[in-house]
Amino acid sequence: MKKNKPSVKILILSKKLAIMLLSAMILMLSWSAALVVRYAYTGKDGLDGKTIVIDPGHGGVDGGTGFGKILEKDINLDVSLKLRDLLEKSGAKVIMTRVEDVELGKSERIDRSRYMRDLNFRVDTINNSSADIFISIHTNSNINNPSTRGAIAFYCNSNPRNREMAYIFQNVFNTLEFDFQGNKYKSHHIPQKGNYYILRNAKVPGIIIETGFLTNRVDRLLLQRDDYKTYLSYVLYRSIVDYFASSDKPHMEIEDRAEIEEENLIKMHEDT
Ligand SMILES: [Zn+2]
Repeated sequence: MKKNKPSVKILILSKKLAIMLLSAMILMLSWSAALVVRYAYTGKDGLDGKTIVIDPGHGGVDGGTGFGKILEKDINLDVSLKLRDLLEKSGAKVIMTRVEDVELGKSERIDRSRYMRDLNFRVDTINNSSADIFISIHTNSNINNPSTRGAIAFYCNSNPRNREMAYIFQNVFNTLEFDFQGNKYKSHHIPQKGNYYILRNAKVPGIIIETGFLTNRVDRLLLQRDDYKTYLSYVLYRSIVDYFASSDKPHMEIEDRAEIEEENLIKMHEDT
């Protein structure tokens, strides 16, 4: 009997350990299951055969807007790569204007001509791609109004589908929420007209999405989080699915909201 005691003790300890491990596993499984449910996609979302250009704004010597060491170019790329993965899993063909931290002009000089070469490279990629749509992904700043937060779709009437596309994307951004520390975050904007170079010169339907404002305290915190960038990529993914689903139906009527939707009411920080 005496001999058995230590082994019984070890057994109890192992049991406790096993329960602890099991609880941890159940917790992890339910957490990942919750994530899977939250960001579920069916793989049958009608994206087979579609070609989509994703354009992560800026890169290399061109950091875009920033706040301290937080640079727009990095956020744009992170969200874009996550979106690419979701689209490819659903059967879409994805063309990226960049997949790493590089500028797309050839000169190292930061001047207007380098900037224009960079923009032209993006436009050429879009126009030579035979893509169905393009999405240019950016991050915004508004030093005059730091309370402005959330994502905004920018469009230009160079293509008749652009305005509708902007409304479809904005609707998903204004509907799907991100839960963080007991609060729910979504956007509350309407799409904005923007006479920007890429939008003016692209020959396929497309929009610019500004995913948030680095000048806003909440957006700045969220945009540094990997789970928020996953959320953004999923919102973009759902928007693309909704856009193609609407392409098969008669064009949706967009209520005329010209009184609040004005060109450059909310600007992109770029002067393009
Ligand atoms: Zn930008």
